Amino acid sequence: MKELELYIHIPFCERKCLYCDFLSFPCDKEERDAYFIALINEIRAASFELREYIVVSVFIGGGTPSLVDEKYIASIMKVVRENYKLSKDCEITIEANPNSITEEKLRTWKEVYINRISIGLQSSNDDELKKLGRLYNYAEFERAYSEAVRAGFENINVDIMSDIPGQTLESYKSTLKKVTELKPAPEHISAYSLIVEEGTPFYDMSERGELNIPDEDIDREMYAFTKEYLEEKGYKRYEISNYAKDGYECRHNLGYWMRREYRGFGLGAASLIENERVSNTEDFEVYIKYWGNAPLTDADPDMAPAVTNIQRLSINDRMEETMFLGLRTIQGVDIEGFRKAFGRDIFEVYGKAIEKNINDGLLETKVCSKTGENAAHRYLALTDKGLDVSNYVMAQFLL
Ligand code: SF4
Repeated sequence: MKELELYIHIPFCERKCLYCDFLSFPCDKEERDAYFIALINEIRAASFELREYIVVSVFIGGGTPSLVDEKYIASIMKVVRENYKLSKDCEITIEANPNSITEEKLRTWKEVYINRISIGLQSSNDDELKKLGRLYNYAEFERAYSEAVRAGFENINVDIMSDIPGQTLESYKSTLKKVTELKPAPEHISAYSLIVEEGTPFYDMSERGELNIPDEDIDREMYAFTKEYLEEKGYKRYEISNYAKDGYECRHNLGYWMRREYRGFGLGAASLIENERVSNTEDFEVYIKYWGNAPLTDADPDMAPAVTNIQRLSINDRMEETMFLGLRTIQGVDIEGFRKAFGRDIFEVYGKAIEKNINDGLLETKVCSKTGENAAHRYLALTDKGLDVSNYVMAQFLL
C-alpha cells in the first residue's frame, strides 16, 4: 500500500502574535462549531479516493489546536480512524501552546491515540515572549510540559526561536539550556530564526527602524551555538532547523521533505497527491459554505473551483521540489531514488550545479542507509559549510 500523511489545519488562535503570517485568527464558538462540521465533512469525503493508502502520520497543526475544546479534537480523530487505514505505529502530533494545555485535554488526546505533542515555547525569557506577543510566561510552559509528561507523552517537541527583538546571545543560550535541562528533556527541538514577514506588525516596526533584532554576527553565533550545544546534549541535527534524539525525528516532516504524498484538510491546507498540488481556499466563509453543507453529495460543484486550486506539477517542478526539500535534510537527496522517480540521472540534470558546489565544499555525496532500511543508498547532501548558506546553494537547482 502507498504511504500517506494527513495534515489537519485548525486556524484558531487566542490573539495574533506580532510576527505571525500563518493562516490563523481568533474566533467565536459559532464559527468554531461551523468549522469543525465542515472539516469533518471534508475528511470523510476525501477518504473515498484514498482507499489504497496507509496513513503513516497525522499532524494537527495551526493556528493553535490546543486552544479548542478537547471534544473537537476527539471528533476529528474519530472520523480519521473510522475512514482511513492507519499504520500500527502511526505518528499523531498535535501542536499546542503552553497556556492552553490542560490535564483534561492531555487525557483526551491520549485516549484518541495522539502520541506526540509539539509545544510552541519560543523563549524562556518572559520579556522576549511579551515582545513576540505570546500570551504565556516560562512558568506556564514548565507547568504544561510537566503535565504532558505526567499524562504519559513520551515524544515531545519544543519550538524555540532566535533573533527575537531584544534577545542577546546569553538569553538565547539560557533558553536552550533550560529546555535541554527539563526533566525529562524533550525528545525533539525545533530551533528557528525569526523571519520578519510583510504584512505583520513586526514588518511595520522594522520599516520604522523600531525592531531591535540581533545583528548578523550575533545571529551567526546563535546558529553555530545551537548545533554545537544540542549535539553535545545528544540531539542529532536531521534538518536545517530540527534536532532529535535517536529515533525521534518527526516522521511527518521527514515525509514532507522526502515528497511523500500528503492530504491536507481545512482552511488553506495543501495536498500533494499523484503529482497534483491542491490548495484549499483561505476564505473562511467559502470553506464553511462548501464543506459545511452535508450531505456531501449536495456540495455545490459550481463552487468547487473557488474552494480548491489544483496545480499539475511538471517534471521540472517535481525535480526542483525534490532538490529543494531533500537538501534541507542532513541525509540529503537519494540519488537512486531520483533516477527511479524521474528516469533521469541526477548528475545529468544538475551536473554543473553539483560539480560547482562540490568543488566549493558546499555539497558532497555520501553513502548511508535510509531511515528504517538496512540497504545503503547514495545521497547528495549539503556539507556543514553548505548548510550555512543553504538558500544560496538551493537557488542553483532551479530549472
Ligand atoms: S500562536 Fe502561532 S499561529 Fe497563532 S498567532 Fe501565534 S505564531 Fe501565529
